Amino acid sequence: MDRRPSQNATRVEAIVTATEPELSVVIPVFNEGANVEALVARLLPVLERAVASWEVVFVDDGSRDDTLERVRRINRDDPRFHAIAFSRNFGKEIAIAAGLDHARGRATVIMDADLQHPPELIETFVARWREGNAMVFGVRTDRDLDGPVRRFLAHAFYRLFASFGETPLPEGAGDFRLLDRRAVEALRTMGERARFSKGLYAWIGFKSVGVPFDVARREHGSSKFSVRKLFRFGLDGITSFSTVPLKLWTYVGAVISAFALLTAIFFVIDTLVRGADVPGYASLIVSVMFFSGVQLISLGVIGEYIGRIFAEVKRRPLYIVGDRIGFDDQPPQASS
Ligand code: UDP
Ligand code: MG
Repeated sequence: MDRRPSQNATRVEAIVTATEPELSVVIPVFNEGANVEALVARLLPVLERAVASWEVVFVDDGSRDDTLERVRRINRDDPRFHAIAFSRNFGKEIAIAAGLDHARGRATVIMDADLQHPPELIETFVARWREGNAMVFGVRTDRDLDGPVRRFLAHAFYRLFASFGETPLPEGAGDFRLLDRRAVEALRTMGERARFSKGLYAWIGFKSVGVPFDVARREHGSSKFSVRKLFRFGLDGITSFSTVPLKLWTYVGAVISAFALLTAIFFVIDTLVRGADVPGYASLIVSVMFFSGVQLISLGVIGEYIGRIFAEVKRRPLYIVGDRIGFDDQPPQASS
């Protein structure tokens, strides 16, 4: 039975063969030993209900606990679950990229392993996809589970990104989403090293629709993202989608120079009219410190971009696979 949305058919036909499943589910896992079995138990009935054929691709992101052992066992019980294991921790964004390289389905769902993304929502995703959407994304309805600091920072980030970026990001849309074959292939052509998936999803375009959902509490373990990691992530997001921070300094410099010129004129006139006097030490120190700060910040911003250029020109592979579980074919070509 062919349930594919008709406008997708031509592009999909070229890629899909009979052995390929209708749906792939890509799940990055990093030290999720306590979660994988519960996840599989909840995912399985949903997948059986939702689609005719499916596969699950775990991407083990260099876990140091027993995640990989458990995944091996899961694969022995049901070969539709398979996995690739990185040689070390490469980060969630890279893990998703690797998962998309290995997913063979006509559509691919990306989700977290910690059951914060309710597997039941996949049925809705699939229904929206069959209606002809190339991308269906989950929109978290509240962030109450995050602390106030995280919530504030997340909101501030979206505001900042919107004011800088050429690519609008829907707030609350994360990695929990379904992508059809065209969207997956589009993402795979983007071999950026510092990956900011949220931006990439928005950048590729296609007909998309959001589905609201409540984020569940993390089942076991704790979040793998510290505030420091999130800050780094936010910086990557902005620097990979905007050059505004780089160009901003021209205007800051111009305003400061204009201000300095006015001050100079004021001092010349003041000296001519009232004669020279020595006071002004405090203002001198303050302005020297202020402008040193401005210069260091602008240097730092330039450094961010040069660092990114450096990372890109090295053209290293995005990730190194240490082990493949349940894949009998040749390794697929990594995107880059
Ligand atoms: N994850 C990963 N590599 C990492 C960090 C996280 O693959 O370096 C995975 C993790 O196992 C989980 C998902 O990414 O499946 C989301 O991580 P987490 O729940 O810690 O993030 P949060 O929900 O706090 O944003
Ligand atoms: Mg989580």
